[in-house]
Amino acid sequence: MVKAVVGANWGDEGKGKITDMLAQSADIIVRFQGGANAGHTIVNDYGKFALHTLPSGVFYGHTTSIIGNGVALNVPVLFNEIQSIVDKGVPQPKILVSDRAQMVISYHILFDQYEEERLGKNSFGSTKSGIAPFYSDKYAKIGFQVSELFDEDTLKDKVERICETKNVTLEHLYKKPLLKPEEIFHELMEYRKMVEPYVCDVSLYLWNAIKEGKEILLEGQLGSLKDPDHGIYPMVTSSSTLAAYGAIGAGIPPYEIKKIITVCKAYSSAVGAGAFVSEIFGDEAEELRKRGGDGGEYGATTGRPRRMGWFDCVASKYGCRMQGTTDVAFTVLDVLGYLSEIPVCVGYEIDGEVTTEFPTTVKLDQAKPVLKTLPGWNCDIRDIKKYEDLPENCRNYIEFVEKEIGFPITMISNGPSREDIIYR
Ligand code: GDP
Repeated sequence: MVKAVVGANWGDEGKGKITDMLAQSADIIVRFQGGANAGHTIVNDYGKFALHTLPSGVFYGHTTSIIGNGVALNVPVLFNEIQSIVDKGVPQPKILVSDRAQMVISYHILFDQYEEERLGKNSFGSTKSGIAPFYSDKYAKIGFQVSELFDEDTLKDKVERICETKNVTLEHLYKKPLLKPEEIFHELMEYRKMVEPYVCDVSLYLWNAIKEGKEILLEGQLGSLKDPDHGIYPMVTSSSTLAAYGAIGAGIPPYEIKKIITVCKAYSSAVGAGAFVSEIFGDEAEELRKRGGDGGEYGATTGRPRRMGWFDCVASKYGCRMQGTTDVAFTVLDVLGYLSEIPVCVGYEIDGEVTTEFPTTVKLDQAKPVLKTLPGWNCDIRDIKKYEDLPENCRNYIEFVEKEIGFPITMISNGPSREDIIYR
């Protein structure tokens, strides 16, 4: 059976932890989109890890970890990540990389930096990992698939051609040093050496695995609101964050995705620019940021402080709907234990009217939050294992959210480690 683990919000919902937990009974975990721009934080017996490219299941001896064709593959990051986990005593993971995955090249990262620099105060708040230039090139048909590394003559010609166009922009728009085709070719040959042991016809591998009845997890990056079509465009990421894209980014039939587990955080956080209706500021935000996640709400890749906000029922209802949610995993609930009252955003006021449907970006920019305050539970719920044992106000919070978003909350995460989970 194929299950997808995806985000309902702006990312950082705790997908890594939920995937890692579900991976205990999975055979294969597939990354199907995104790149090394975001990260998953996982805490397990080997230590605490921030993964940027490897799927969350790499810590189990029994799983195969796959980089699907939809991923923006940064080969040196992958290579170093494998090395770093092996160095910490994790057994050498089984890894496969799709021969159709395309690679982030050093100039994608440069173009990302140069463009953010050029935009100045209008910048996107990119992590400058090259993701937007990478996906632009992929769809402009000037990207490099892993498979192309093995045809040197064709590759050389293509590198020449691409450098020619890139250099026009570098010279005239950015006024930066030009690319040298021989250096880019050399870089690609280095990538070939690093990636060769892992290259695989992934869609065929997964087709056979599905036929054999294997348990497959598709692991999404970021969340619904960062989807280029359905998110807060243009403050979005450059590949689809939706479970539906899992079929394309892994290369499997769409009807094989039987369960869509949407991870939804008990409060809100976001990185980068863009509307964030339930955002809070000042001391109130700082307190939640410090207490949030596991060791604070700071980017796994960049370390920058995340923007904080109260739970947003409007955005989460939409986020769950766009994912095609079968199950909601409600995470980081333990963090809210310090509050005696918890505000929740239950509607958006736009032009004097209140709506509970998530609007397009222009309207979103005008939206003001309609808040409802729920009583807090004022205690630590970390070690609780059974739903009935949660404080009444805590259950009321969960049930209120469930009703507002309209999707069943079947898992509640009350701590960062695998064991901190309550099934309903
Ligand atoms: P992802 O990108 O969606 O995987 O999210 P992150 O890696 O940013 O995860 C959010 C942070 O919250 C990480 O530091 C996790 O270890 C932590 N975390 C996940 N679930 C919980 C939870 O239920 N409670 C607490 N306190 N921390 C959690």
